[in-house]
Amino acid sequence: MKRIAVLTSGGDAPGMNAAVRAVAKVAMAKGIEVFGVKRGYLGMLHDEIFRMDGSYVSGIIDRGGTVLLTARCLEFKDPKFRAIAAENLKKRGIEGIVVIGGDGSYRGADLLSKEHGIKVVGLPGTIDNDIVGTDYTIGFDTCLNTILDAMSKLRDTATSHERTILMEVMGRHAGDLALHACLAGGGDGVLIPEAENPLEMLVYQIKERRRQGKLHDIVLVAEGVGKVQDVEDYMREKVSTEVRSVVLGHVQRGGTPSGFDRVLATKMGARAVELLEQGEGGVMVGIENNQLVTHPISFAWEGTRKYDIKKDYELAVMLSK
Ligand code: ATP
Repeated sequence: MKRIAVLTSGGDAPGMNAAVRAVAKVAMAKGIEVFGVKRGYLGMLHDEIFRMDGSYVSGIIDRGGTVLLTARCLEFKDPKFRAIAAENLKKRGIEGIVVIGGDGSYRGADLLSKEHGIKVVGLPGTIDNDIVGTDYTIGFDTCLNTILDAMSKLRDTATSHERTILMEVMGRHAGDLALHACLAGGGDGVLIPEAENPLEMLVYQIKERRRQGKLHDIVLVAEGVGKVQDVEDYMREKVSTEVRSVVLGHVQRGGTPSGFDRVLATKMGARAVELLEQGEGGVMVGIENNQLVTHPISFAWEGTRKYDIKKDYELAVMLSK
């Protein structure tokens, strides 16, 4: 394969730049021409495709966000527009693409591959850690550390004022960020969509804490559970402390990527180029048991997650009391 392209798609995640850099540099080292696509599938459709050189990826490994920009592109769900996008690749002789994004981005890539013969490799780039076929996604670790930093600050004020602070964190339908933040930050409770009856469990835990004389709590609430305000309304009548909710918001998406995310992104980016060089496509790269692995790209929606989140939830509950 002589020419490949790389794009970032869906929600941005710290470490995407490290992956772009690795794809570009490894491709160049192998004598493969590499193109960048701006704004994900939107840029592919609008022909925002350019030849990348070393200077484009210089000095980006420690930058959050994505220098290629990212966007949602609903038109890409329509085969007519995918054909235009594919033509924009083909007219430049681009035979393979690396798509860094979430499972929605993988679906688009899969269709592009099946309909137009473009070889695709998906890399899991999302803070949510919600992609089947990988233990970790690029951006999750950095985001977790951002949450932990905020959590420490909120704990200072929660302790001083003897309050219960409900902290809503991202994750879409997945509870990984909230649960890991609870485990790593010594949270006093956690609500995740994967657990049954978590509200009842939370009230029980907090009552238990009151019996021990503890008059402050930091509770992690995964956004997939619902509105944190509804949780606050429910809790207010059940616990003796003043309850406040905080939505951490988009600060979770930014920041310099952690060492873990940079190494993960770099190794995955390099693997993606090796796969395309060997003529392989229709695959996603993951990390399982500390080894890089590949799966058919459709594994992201057809496969089942290995992570036993309920077991870790039980541990978090045990430690929260
Ligand atoms: P994140 O989880 O971080 O939001 P994502 O990749 O899942 O990332 P989506 O918004 O679901 O984010 O998808 C990104 C883009 O992928 C969409 O804007 C669209 O262009 C394309 N895409 C998503 N689903 C499909 C689909 N079913 N068919 C074709 N293209 C799709």
